[in-house]
Amino acid sequence: MEKGLATKLTYAGGNEVLKKHAANVSQPKVAPIYMTSVFSFDDVPSLDAVYDGTANGYVYSRMANPGLDCLADIMAQAEGCEAAIPFASGMAAIITSIISYVGKGDHILASPVLYGAVYDYLKNEAPRFGIEVDFADFTNYDIEKHIKPNTKVLYTETITNPLMEVMDIKKIADSAHRHGAKLIIDNTFATPAVCRPMELGADIVAYSSTKYLGGHSDITGGIVCASAADIAHIQRFATLYGAMPSPFDAWLLTRSLRTLELRMRAHCENAQKVAEYFEKHPKIEKVHYPGLKASPFNALAEKQFYEGRCGGMLSANITGGEKGASGFIKHCESVKFVPSLAGFSTSVSYPAKTSHRAYSPQEREKLGIPMGQLRFSIGLERIEDVIEEFERALGKI
Ligand SMILES: *Cc1c(COP(=O)(O)O)cnc(C)c1O
Repeated sequence: MEKGLATKLTYAGGNEVLKKHAANVSQPKVAPIYMTSVFSFDDVPSLDAVYDGTANGYVYSRMANPGLDCLADIMAQAEGCEAAIPFASGMAAIITSIISYVGKGDHILASPVLYGAVYDYLKNEAPRFGIEVDFADFTNYDIEKHIKPNTKVLYTETITNPLMEVMDIKKIADSAHRHGAKLIIDNTFATPAVCRPMELGADIVAYSSTKYLGGHSDITGGIVCASAADIAHIQRFATLYGAMPSPFDAWLLTRSLRTLELRMRAHCENAQKVAEYFEKHPKIEKVHYPGLKASPFNALAEKQFYEGRCGGMLSANITGGEKGASGFIKHCESVKFVPSLAGFSTSVSYPAKTSHRAYSPQEREKLGIPMGQLRFSIGLERIEDVIEEFERALGKI
């Protein structure tokens, strides 16, 4: 009997076609999107072999998917480490890494100037699970007095948000290792084109790939890089909690990473020019950018970062507090006001109103995040055009 239309539509283009392609002598030039949630097997022994690790193969996309593996491979090579795992967001990457190494009764030591949601998690969520968290100034190198016998994780960012402080990664890693703790570091602002923290001793490097790794403001994602042993450990939690990206987002990110080096070079050069322009402007009270000779972090940046690159992010305190900052934003024309960063075009954000809303006004003032402070994500434009726009906006406030 001829098969019914419903049956034809169900079976056609399946295994037979896919196998013919897989056995072909030609291969796609770039990795295709394996938009499949699950993989099929010819028989039970083939499935057993994959589970037992005696044969290569995929089972279920929450556990592994060829497109995600392709992305992980590029990232591990960029970072110069053994392995990596992609996640659905930066928060998923960071929180899964942290909880892979702590349980009830353990202690985390973190720096107080962190991405707002990570600070919120450490301050308000982790303690709900019996995890102790202390915050200490990691730029003040005497952090060892805050490390306890139950400290399992030290957590910080390579370049902090929004003050662009640069951490001395080697010193912090040495302190962690003397006490048997892991150093987990968020390298989102730097990327491997500026800094590779594992070369300086960090154990685990986490990214929001929503930012520079993606670079086009169109992907939400995260990635964790580490040794093969650490990635195998974290993989268990990643699979259990299930925060994997879709094969489509992994594919988009793979494409973005091909140009990471070129984009970062341009972001860094442009940011340096804007920082130097702001530094001389009478309506700017203070500029936070490690590439400036006046920055207290300039020497450390020169030592730790590649080719003097200091990233594409900077902050500037505008005269007139909230009125000055809001006026500046209102008078920008092409530069968009967005509560994120690292896109191809320059954008401005307002830490006190967005990323650092969870902090009290007193906490913000103490940290050095006043109401007049704006944070800039410098893009890939011809920078003179952006500076001209800033000049007009500053002239109007
Ligand atoms: C955006 C960001 C995160 C969070 O990443 P998501 O992709 O939004 O979950 C973490 N750390 C830093 C430094 C970030 O900029």
